[in-house]
Parts: sequence; structure tokens; C-alpha cells
Amino acid sequence: MPKPLTLNEINRLLAVSVPATPAAEGWTLNEQLIAEVAMQLGIEHPIKFRYTSSRRKHGSVAVRMDANGNYYHRIIVNQWTPRKRINETIWHELCHIVQSEDWAKRSGRPLHRWMKETYYKANGGYGNTYKGNLYEIQAREFAAKKCHIMLLWEGGDTQ
Ligand SMILES: [Zn+2]
Repeated sequence: MPKPLTLNEINRLLAVSVPATPAAEGWTLNEQLIAEVAMQLGIEHPIKFRYTSSRRKHGSVAVRMDANGNYYHRIIVNQWTPRKRINETIWHELCHIVQSEDWAKRSGRPLHRWMKETYYKANGGYGNTYKGNLYEIQAREFAAKKCHIMLLWEGGDTQ
């Protein structure tokens, strides 16, 4: 007999939301797969994706609070970034989400304090702050290992 999902697992599957339209570059986020990955990674808070068209960055992640005072993770992805590149970026940001939730659980500190209280302190030596940051090194390695799994469809197709 297959084991049905628990209510908790169903809620987590519902906890990922993506933009309704394909990105300008012609890919579509695979909402269900990302939700399954988030569940496997043990991510507890919802993840909301948004597009940006800024040419400066591929992506970023931040902790936000909804109208009811509940935390969620907001991943902003550049909709002009090619599919393979943005896929790696999303894996990178998922790693930061795991890092932040893990830190909050272990330290007992509020999730939204992760950046200020630990991320910035994990920097490398002078002139090496971003690339030498321990959380960045870990996120790069994580993304490199996982990015063979495509979290996006080609085109506007969703099946
Ligand atoms: Zn990063």
C-alpha cells in the first residue's frame, strides 16, 4: 500500500508559488518539482518566486513576512537569464534557504536575522568578502552538484 502524504507534506507542496507567465527568456518554473525538492530538503517556510528584469544579477533570496506575520522566502530570478544558468541560481538560493532555516533552528534566533547575525560574519579575508564567504562557498558547491536536475521547463509549456 502506498503511503498517503501527511497534511504537513500537502501543505508544503502548496507552499511554493511561481509567476503565472513564462519568463521573457522562454522558460517556466516547475512549481511541483520545486515543491518536492523543498520538501526533501526539509524547508519549512513557503517559497515565493518573483521575476526581475535587472541586468545586474541572476537571482537573490530574502526572508519576508506575510500579512499574518508568517515568514516566507522570496526568491527573485532574472527572467532574462538563460535556463541552464538560472537553474543553477535557483539551486544556489535553495541552499541559502536551508542554511538560514538550519541556523534559526539551532540558534533559536528569528529567521530574518540570518543575514545580519551570521551570513555577513562568514566572510573570507579582506577583498574576498563575497567569494570567500563560507555560506557562498557551500551554496556554489551545492548548486554545482544538483544543477543536473532541471527545475524549469523549456518554453511556456507546463507539461
Ligand atoms: Zn549566494
